Amino acid sequence: MKKHYNIAIVGGGPAGTTAARFAAARGVSVVLFEKDREIGVPVRCAEGVAEDVLAKYIEIDSRWIASRITAFGFHSPSGIEIAFQSATARGCVLHRRLFDHALAELASEAGAEIYTKAYVHSLRKNGPKSTLGLRYIGQEKEITADIVIAADGIESRIAHLAGIKTKLAFRDIEPCAQMQLANIDIHPERCDFYLSEKWAPGGYVWVFPKGARTANVGLGINGIHAGPKSALNYLQDFVKEHFPKATVLTTTAAGVPVAQTLKQLVADGLMIIGDAARQVNPLTGGGISAALAAGKMAGQVAAEAIKADDNSARRLTSYQKEWEKTYGKESRRYYRLKDWVMGLTDQDFEDIAAALAKEPPEEITLVKIFKQAVRKKPSLIIDVLKVFAGL
Ligand SMILES: Cc1cc2nc3c(=O)[nH]c(=O)nc-3n(C[C@H](O)[C@H](O)[C@H](O)COP(=O)(O)OP(=O)(O)OC[C@H]3O[C@@H](n4cnc5c(N)ncnc54)[C@H](O)[C@@H]3O)c2cc1C
Repeated sequence: MKKHYNIAIVGGGPAGTTAARFAAARGVSVVLFEKDREIGVPVRCAEGVAEDVLAKYIEIDSRWIASRITAFGFHSPSGIEIAFQSATARGCVLHRRLFDHALAELASEAGAEIYTKAYVHSLRKNGPKSTLGLRYIGQEKEITADIVIAADGIESRIAHLAGIKTKLAFRDIEPCAQMQLANIDIHPERCDFYLSEKWAPGGYVWVFPKGARTANVGLGINGIHAGPKSALNYLQDFVKEHFPKATVLTTTAAGVPVAQTLKQLVADGLMIIGDAARQVNPLTGGGISAALAAGKMAGQVAAEAIKADDNSARRLTSYQKEWEKTYGKESRRYYRLKDWVMGLTDQDFEDIAAALAKEPPEEITLVKIFKQAVRKKPSLIIDVLKVFAGL
């Protein structure tokens, strides 16, 4: 490990490794620190992502695709099932461990140094540089960097240490629990969603196939609606009811920031990306594609700033501007929709399902489903059309 790098990245998730790749490819020195012993492990993710979005950042390799998705199913509290084939969107469920490894390999091939079991615990500004303190396999180390990129996920401390407001409101955190279940009856090419206050108040249950009879089954809840019962307890009850014969291969718990993106994404010598920047889609909780997008933008801007010998916030702000131009409005629309959907009751879900059940299945689309969901609040129709129909 050297004493100084142009760019130091904290966090080896998709945001961090992508930033490392795009920065290193421009010939500057890049180091990435990941606190866990292995990139991509433990997996705390349902692993679903749109294939066309993924293809913008990485050549798709069938080894890290667990299943390809062509259909979606929605289940009302009483059991009405609305299923449809997706005409446009093609999704996939990843093997995140392999996918995250592939991203790290690309970063390494581009020239980035990657250290695992490297926990960054302090950040100090000294003039234009930053000093990072870290524990690397039991040893204390310090390095300096011209630019630090905080890619340290929902638990992010780096941006906070740099004095940026990162506190999440209670209503903007979705506690999640997930199990990988084997020996269950599922649709191997369909992602299913269960909506009910009894299963996942303020959130939803997902069943994402990882094989013919294996799936990631998980849920997110909202603390405001859920009361004292934990996400894991909700999940245990759901699994008991729906998959009583399942074998539980893994159990994980984690949080998703279903918030608005941070107001401040850069400071002198500092950039914030991915979950750390709250760039997750607040309606779905999906954040892989945003992490890749922000990683690429920030990595490129950081490298160009180093070449121009200017790591000031004014220079780095072009990352924030690009993010805002590409995703800002869309993200705010999703946030408004999330707020509305989170307040729907079981009766609302029943009414929506009953109305959609009258439609021929081949005519059901995501736009139709969400138009039904917001029919009592017509001002949101425009948001639905913009985000789901791309109008
Ligand atoms: C239960 C669940 C299900 C989800 N399902 C989906 C889904 O189906 N599709 C989707 O698109 N998104 C999903 N997400 C969200 C998705 O996982 C994240 O948005 C995505 O991983 C964000 O990438 P990231 O690189 O910003 O952060 P992360 O992937 O969280 O990576 C951050 C990394 O930083 C490391 N780190 C933290 N602090 C330090 C430190 N001080 N020093 C060194 N390293 C540090 C962490 O160990 C971690 O590896 C889900 C999330 C959860 C919790």
